[in-house]
Amino acid sequence: MARYTDSVCRLCRREGTKLFLKGDRCYSAKCSVLKRHTPPGQHGQARARKQSEYGVQLREKQKCRRAYGVLESQFRKYFDMATNMRGITGENMLCLLERRFDNVVYRLGFGESRPMARQLVLHGHFRINGKKVDIPSYLVKPGDIISVKERSRDLQCFKALREQGAGKPVPKWLEVDAENLTGKIVAMPERDDIDLTIEEHLIVEFYSR
Ligand code: SF4
Repeated sequence: MARYTDSVCRLCRREGTKLFLKGDRCYSAKCSVLKRHTPPGQHGQARARKQSEYGVQLREKQKCRRAYGVLESQFRKYFDMATNMRGITGENMLCLLERRFDNVVYRLGFGESRPMARQLVLHGHFRINGKKVDIPSYLVKPGDIISVKERSRDLQCFKALREQGAGKPVPKWLEVDAENLTGKIVAMPERDDIDLTIEEHLIVEFYSR
């Protein structure tokens, strides 16, 4: 499957905001968004001009898509799924993205960033309810128990987490036991649980054009 392989910091600079794609570096003074304020590329300065209504909607869609590391066709599928659900389409779509397995691994603190969490999932380091799941787009549901595979527990990244005990705070729809490297989905995510600054109504307007 096609994946974006260029520098992920370029994506943040293009969207003009931190997308937190590189773990610790994102919280340091080395972050490219802090150092360079224009979009990447030779004509970056020109791209920073005032945007049309369409441009604003497009950028919001791209920002959300890139933050979750989802390709366009898959992102469109989440939108279509959200339109067929009860409630507010934009919020439904964000909650679907939030339930992705790679995002949950990141939210639980088992991966430093979403791209790293995705990699760990693809390499088969996790189980859901005791069964191996290596599909980043798998949608978790309340009651699911996520655990690190027995043989993977001694990997450096998990060892450090176990030694630290409590990792970073998790949203209220999740519970984590860092010492035992397990997590539980206790509820469906709600809009207030999602800390990304995304105006989802602009994405709905983009796809409704
Ligand atoms: Fe984005 Fe992190 Fe790179 Fe900063 S360091 S530009 S937040 S990926």
